[in-house]
Amino acid sequence: MAIDENYLTEYEKVATHDGENQPIQIWAKDQDSYSGIGSDKLGVWGTIVGVDFDLCIADGACIDACPVEVFEWIDTPNHPESDKKAIMIREEECIICRACESVCPVEAVLITED
Ligand code: SF4
Repeated sequence: MAIDENYLTEYEKVATHDGENQPIQIWAKDQDSYSGIGSDKLGVWGTIVGVDFDLCIADGACIDACPVEVFEWIDTPNHPESDKKAIMIREEECIICRACESVCPVEAVLITED
């Protein structure tokens, strides 16, 4: 399974999380599909740099690949796939190179240009 390519149009905006300079939008199929950090339902985080946190296995390839350091780790205890995720803390810095998208082993990343 990969990140849903239509999440920006088909998912609901369920929450936001603080980024370094601007809020990060969190998306989910419906309100029942998101329970927040500490749960097993985290949804898709980000709008330009989208990562399906329910697929992310904390491989870290995206963090290593990004030339402008968009990502950092965030702790996500109790999530069955991994207890940390790559958060797009500096999403607005993204240069749309798509390196992160191509290296993710579980296809959890989707880059969308403005
Ligand atoms: S597309 Fe490139 S610049 Fe943007 S987050 Fe991914 S690796 Fe970083």
